[in-house]
Amino acid sequence: MKTTKPTVTLERVRCGVCGSGASTHQFDAQDFIYGNAGIFPVARCEGCGVVFMNPRIPPAEIGTFYPQTYYTNLAQRFDTAAWKAQAMALLLRKEYGYPVTVPVSLLARVVAVLIGPVWSRLAWFRHNIANVPGGSVLDVGCGNGALLTIYRRLGWKTSGTEVGPDSAAVGRQAGHEIFLGELAEAKYTSGNFDVVTLWDALEHIHNPAETMAEVFRVCRPGGHVYVYVPNFGSGYARRYRDRWYMFTAPLHYYHYSSETLGRLLRQAGFEAVDFRYPLGGAGLHPTLCAATGGLLNRLVAYGPLAALLRFADRLMPRGHLLAIARRPASSLP
Ligand SMILES: [Zn+2]
Repeated sequence: MKTTKPTVTLERVRCGVCGSGASTHQFDAQDFIYGNAGIFPVARCEGCGVVFMNPRIPPAEIGTFYPQTYYTNLAQRFDTAAWKAQAMALLLRKEYGYPVTVPVSLLARVVAVLIGPVWSRLAWFRHNIANVPGGSVLDVGCGNGALLTIYRRLGWKTSGTEVGPDSAAVGRQAGHEIFLGELAEAKYTSGNFDVVTLWDALEHIHNPAETMAEVFRVCRPGGHVYVYVPNFGSGYARRYRDRWYMFTAPLHYYHYSSETLGRLLRQAGFEAVDFRYPLGGAGLHPTLCAATGGLLNRLVAYGPLAALLRFADRLMPRGHLLAIARRPASSLP
C-alpha cells in the first residue's frame, strides 16, 4: 500500500565523505518496504566513489519517512534458553575474551563444539565486542537499546544516542542512558568511551565525515570503533542495483563498500582498519520479491519457499560489512 507524504523539496549536497561537489546520477531507487511514494536519486561521488542519495530528503524531514512500526521501535526480546546462554558464554570467552561466570551443562558444551563454528560467523553473534574489563561503550543509533542490554550483562557501562524518540523511549524503559538527538549534540567528554559502535546506523547518517570525527573525539586513545553497514561492494548490490533491498530508500543516505568505509575511518584518524563479513543480512528474500515479477514473484512469496529463503538469508555471505578500527594510542585525548 502506498501512502502519500507531504511534498518534500529535495536538496542537492556535496559528498559527506570527501566534500567533493561532483557526483554522477546512477539510477533511481524506490521504497519497496514501507510504502513511501516517489523515487530517490542515487549518485556516485566523483571524488571518493561513495554512493549516496543526491539530491536528497533534507535531514529535518527524513523522520516522517520512518513508519511507526520501524523495527527499532519494538520492545526488546531475548531468547532465555539456558543451554543457549551457556553455549554463548563459552563462545564469548573463545571469540571475545569474556570470563565464563555461569555453570555450563554438558549439553551446552556439546552445542558449543558442534554449532559454535557456524554461530561465531553469524551476524547476530558478530554484534558483540571484545572484552575490556570495567569498560564503557557508546552505541550510536542505539535504537531500542537491545545491544546495550547485552553489553550491560557482560559488564559494560553503557550509553547510547538515538534520533528516533519512540526507539529511545523503549531503550530508556530498559534502564539505559540514551541521548535523544545526534551524536555531536550530546557533547560527551573527549576520550570518554573505550568502544564506540555503529550497528546499521552509519548508512542513515547524513553527515558521515563530521559524525566520524566526533566518534574519534569521544573514543579514548587506544580504544576501538565497530561499524556495521550493508555492503554496497557485494554481488547483491551489483546484480540488483535499484532493486537491492538494502537501499531501503529513502532511509539510507549513504551506501558503503570496504573502500569508502575504510577511507572514512582513516580520514577521521582511525588506524588498523580490519574488515569482516559476518553471515546474514543480505536481504535475499525481500530483494527477490522486489526484483521478480509474474509467476516467479508468486513463487518467491509462496509461504514455505519464503520461509526457506528467509532462513537461507541468515547464512548468506557478504551482505553486510563490519569494520573494526583503533584510535591510535598516541593521539591526544
Ligand atoms: Zn566523496
